[in-house]
Amino acid sequence: MAARYDVILRNARVIDPQNGLDGIRDIAMSDARIAEVAPEITGSAPEEHDLTGFAAVPGIIDMHVHVSPWLGGRAGHRMLARAGVTTALDMAGPIEGVVELARDHGAGLNIACINYVRPGHTVTTTDPDVAELRDLLARSLRAGAIGLKLLGGHYPMTPEATARTIALAADEGAYVAFHAGTLATGSHIDGMLEGCELSAGHPLHMAHINSYTRGLVRPAMAEGEEALAALQAHPHITSESYLSPINATSAKCAKGVPESLQTRNWLKIGGFAPTEAGLAEAIEAGWAMLNQETEDAVVLATGRDAVAAWRARETRLGVSFMANPSEPRLRLATARGENDGFIVDALATDGGGIPRNVIVEMGLALVRLEAWSMADFVIKSSFAPARALGLTGKGHLGPGADADISVLDLERGRPKASFVAGSMIMRDGAVTGRGARLVTTPLGKEAADAAGMGGNVVALGSMLRRDSPGASG
Ligand SMILES: [Zn+2]
Repeated sequence: MAARYDVILRNARVIDPQNGLDGIRDIAMSDARIAEVAPEITGSAPEEHDLTGFAAVPGIIDMHVHVSPWLGGRAGHRMLARAGVTTALDMAGPIEGVVELARDHGAGLNIACINYVRPGHTVTTTDPDVAELRDLLARSLRAGAIGLKLLGGHYPMTPEATARTIALAADEGAYVAFHAGTLATGSHIDGMLEGCELSAGHPLHMAHINSYTRGLVRPAMAEGEEALAALQAHPHITSESYLSPINATSAKCAKGVPESLQTRNWLKIGGFAPTEAGLAEAIEAGWAMLNQETEDAVVLATGRDAVAAWRARETRLGVSFMANPSEPRLRLATARGENDGFIVDALATDGGGIPRNVIVEMGLALVRLEAWSMADFVIKSSFAPARALGLTGKGHLGPGADADISVLDLERGRPKASFVAGSMIMRDGAVTGRGARLVTTPLGKEAADAAGMGGNVVALGSMLRRDSPGASG
């Protein structure tokens, strides 16, 4: 008797480097898992899709996004789903807000979160002691987070407290990521180099490497090479970079000036006064691009209407500038070290509710340019982030793996559809997924279940283990 499955995808080009596969296959899914991958599956399913002409890859994992009430906002889930992403790591929290937004505005994705270490918010000072940090970590894990985020580039702490946080996370087996910068340095290449030292051999996710190579200290390309050398000298560090040309900062003004130093800098670089009036002119002229929330997306807006929208929100919106020079961005995404493995482990976006969810769009452009093979694309966008998150069921499509699949239109360089736990969450840009599945540790399982978001449990101590990224095409 022929087998019955929940869903069968037929005639897709399946690319799964972990299992050495690149060929036309059928994929059968049952009970949220991959049941079978074969040239022709004889069984049947109530839901079958013919994917002739499309590629099916292990679900795309964006290990740097923002989908919190603090940053990114509620449209982020739908934006990620439309971009072909199936799993995402919110890189700031607050965890409670991330869980609430995912529950109420989710698009069916798997969501993990690390909670920020933010002086005046989650810790009292810029130099919290280990007892205070331990308490924050314990609270964060119980609320469903998988670890902590150091926001040094925005809200720096002392180098000592930064190092204490990284060591504590290693002790407890929790995740820890760092936007480089301390009270002694800043959000630039020297801050990143300092961060490598402060990690003292402990596991660490160094965020958005490309954002330390904007030429603020030395020429951008030289900074890119320094960053690559530092990562090779610190193999315990997991890293990602993104390919979008735009940065994201705050447009909020107080007393006639933008509060963010970054915003003032980029105004000056564009030839505008570093003031609220200068920012208004820059938005009108198109140099500053407002992150404006519409019905179900955040879009870049310029011109007079955008200025009016910004005023209507009392300047409380994000803003982007063309801050990322292309050469180090491309170099960081493609650079290989010993054994041909990538030096920067993953391609991420720092997107979500920030409109730069371009893993598929720009990752497939690198494939088209022959900078990457399709296997490389999968390693960078799914396999490596799955490893970093300790998600052994993701990043590949072997039997028993999680039924998370991104379907790609290679011809157009666009996502076509995606499945999470065997359910379709997006097709042709229409989001059909609802809610979310929290990626959490055993300590957060109760919180996940209480929010109706159970599903992915990752063991403490299994994250940020950096071993060789495996095959390359
Ligand atoms: Zn970020």
